Formats: sequence, C-alpha cells, structure tokens
Amino acid sequence: MRLVLLGPPGAGKGTQAERLVARYNIVPLSTGDLLRVAVAAGSPLGLKVKDIMARGELVPDDLVVALIAERIDAPEAKNGFILDGFPRTVKQAEALDRLLAERGLKLDAVIELKVDESMLIERIEKRIAQTRAKGHTARADDDPAVLKQRIAHYRKQTAPLSDHYQRKGSLVAVNGMRAVDEVETDIERALQERVPVGG
Ligand code: AMP
Repeated sequence: MRLVLLGPPGAGKGTQAERLVARYNIVPLSTGDLLRVAVAAGSPLGLKVKDIMARGELVPDDLVVALIAERIDAPEAKNGFILDGFPRTVKQAEALDRLLAERGLKLDAVIELKVDESMLIERIEKRIAQTRAKGHTARADDDPAVLKQRIAHYRKQTAPLSDHYQRKGSLVAVNGMRAVDEVETDIERALQERVPVGG
C-alpha cells in the first residue's frame, strides 16, 4: 500500500499515519520528522534547514525530494509507505510522480484530511499544552504566529495539490473534524472501495 496524506498543520495527519502504518504494515515517511531528526543531530542538512523550519517556511524542494527518494528505495519501504507532509508543492508532487514512475510504482490513494482553520489553531494549542505537560519542549514552529505562517503556506502552495491528484483520479477527501476513530473508519472505508482486498 502506497499512500499520501494531505492536510494542513494540525489536521491529524500524524495520528492517522500511525494507524495506517500499523494496519497495513507499511513505513511512515514524514519529511517533518526526518528534518527534525537532522536538526537535532546537527547534520549538514539539519544546519541548512534549522532556521527555515523555525520560521515556518518551506525547505527547498530538492532537499526534501532527495530525502524521500532515499527512503523509498530503502528495503523497509518494500511493502509500502505513507507519505506525511510530502509532497507540499506542485513541484514536489511532479518529482514524486517521476520517482515512482521510474521505479514502476503507483500510489494507491492520496487521502486529504479537511479541517477548518479555526479548529487547526485550537488543535495546535492543545498539542503545545500536552507536550509541555509531559515536561518536553514544544516544537520551535508550534507557536501561534508561526502556525499562521504555516497555514498560509499550506493554502498557497499545498492546497493546489488536491487538484493535481483529483485530475489523476487518486484523491480521497475525508472530513478531518470528526473524532480520531471516526476519521480512521472513514479512511478505511474509502480505501476499501478503491483498493479491493487482495487486489
Ligand atoms: P511538518 O512536521 O510536516 O509540519 O513539517 C515541519 C516543517 O518542516 C515545515 O514547516 C517545513 O519547514 C519543513 N518541511 C516538512 N516537510 C516539507 C516539505 N515536503 N517541503 C518543504 N518543507 C518541509
């Protein structure tokens, strides 16, 4: 199973990705997580992207495309993967189309989680509070001003991807404002309709 999860920051992509990973025995590929690991490790990539990420801006396409290409080729991804936070621009989507075509692979579906902006801010505030309650430091970009910036980038650069995937016939839109279990059930149902069991 090869999936893409689309949705603005705070839409619940991370939570749903975890559930899909467990259900289909596929690997999660989150560019945000991979980049945060690079920043924490202080690697050359991490040093390049640290300030860009803290400002809530997008990291250059070539860097994230290279990161994803490497992970798609890893043996762990043989059974499939779920991309979370990638692609985020039409250019990245086109690069992904090429990457997959070169390998004779196809996406089974692109799941878009649809959530109103007012709810996104509420959810991120909750995520910050929960992180602090556990005694951890919140992400540098989980900050109300930066969040607005991330949502604006989403609207401008990532939202057009719905059209890209709609045209390709792979888009599945799901209401992301329902409870986590309900969203999971809706995704499941939509996937079963698209990808028949055993097929
Ligand atoms: P996320 O965890 O998906 O919210 O990503 C956190 C931050 O990582 C974003 O605000 C960007 O700075 C960077 N990032 C993650 N994925 C991408 C991507 N596909 N393209 C560009 N920047 C990205």
